Amino acid sequence: MTRVFSGVKPTGHLTLGNYLGAMRRWVGVDQHRAEALFCIVDLHALTVEHDPARVRRLSRQAATVLLAAGLDPERCTVFVQSHVDEHARLSYLLECVATDGEMRRMIQYREKAGLERARGGSVRLSLLTYPVLMAADILAYRTDEVPVGDDQTQHVELARDLAVRFNQRYGHTFVVPRATHPEVAARVMNLKEPASKMGKSDDFGPGIVYVLDEPDVVRKKVMRAVTDSGRDVVYDRAGRPGVANLLEILAACTGGNPSDLGGVYESYGALKKDTAEAVVEVLRPVQARHKELCADPGYVEGVLRDGAERARAMARPTVDAAYRAIGL
Ligand code: ADP
Repeated sequence: MTRVFSGVKPTGHLTLGNYLGAMRRWVGVDQHRAEALFCIVDLHALTVEHDPARVRRLSRQAATVLLAAGLDPERCTVFVQSHVDEHARLSYLLECVATDGEMRRMIQYREKAGLERARGGSVRLSLLTYPVLMAADILAYRTDEVPVGDDQTQHVELARDLAVRFNQRYGHTFVVPRATHPEVAARVMNLKEPASKMGKSDDFGPGIVYVLDEPDVVRKKVMRAVTDSGRDVVYDRAGRPGVANLLEILAACTGGNPSDLGGVYESYGALKKDTAEAVVEVLRPVQARHKELCADPGYVEGVLRDGAERARAMARPTVDAAYRAIGL
């Protein structure tokens, strides 16, 4: 059976980008057709400045949102990365296979390190080695497919390269994984800055829709989205990024096609109104279930405990085999 692994970072509240780019397929497709593991990757949240209590709280919150979105613990394994030691154990071995040049070429590292330095801060070594830990997350489970938004393509490529290199040097140990992306909304852009990805942020930016935003907040954010100077509603990602983003979000929420939808609207206002309502409808059941789950924190804890046990049992043989293969 195909093995699927993917994760979310508890660095902020989950966004519409996380939902449309990744979670929705985990719920609707992956957990039904594959042996699937979904992980709250809390170790990755330590690569930048963080508040310990907040990371812990956001990890539980992310797990609750994933379950509210429809991940079913009877069908898939939901767990927290730091509960399974195998991730960190394997990461070190992969650091002995990766090169520093390879790490410094990673686009996300360059962007985030640049931001840290611009703020006058120092860059944690773990920010540089983050993609190796992510490779360990994936390879420890002999993963075939990694369903992600397209911002993660380069990191999954690295996991492939490290798997191939390790297997060539030390004997066949890892499955070589591949990334899969949604057909639409593989990269949802910030509504206020359509040149940047809609990513989690500390400042509750007005261009970021969160999965748990109230309907009126969603409406306000979408209605205030930056569009373009033209008037026609056409799908053109390079020339009209703001409008294209709205069309992609609408298409992802309604099952349509962004280019076809472009022809339907005569004004940006009408497009925004329908997009806002479509987003509200997609998030409504998730928010309702989230409310129920918050009333039962013991349930979420239990799911994470069982998930960690199952994940550990799956990862251990592969990580033990890697230790033997490399000479330990
Ligand atoms: P972030 O911290 O940027 O929200 P995560 O690393 O937690 O991202 O991402 C979790 C999943 O959501 C990944 O598969 C990632 O590719 C996807 N994702 C994140 N942001 C977006 C976006 N704006 N559009 C599409 N997919 C996204």
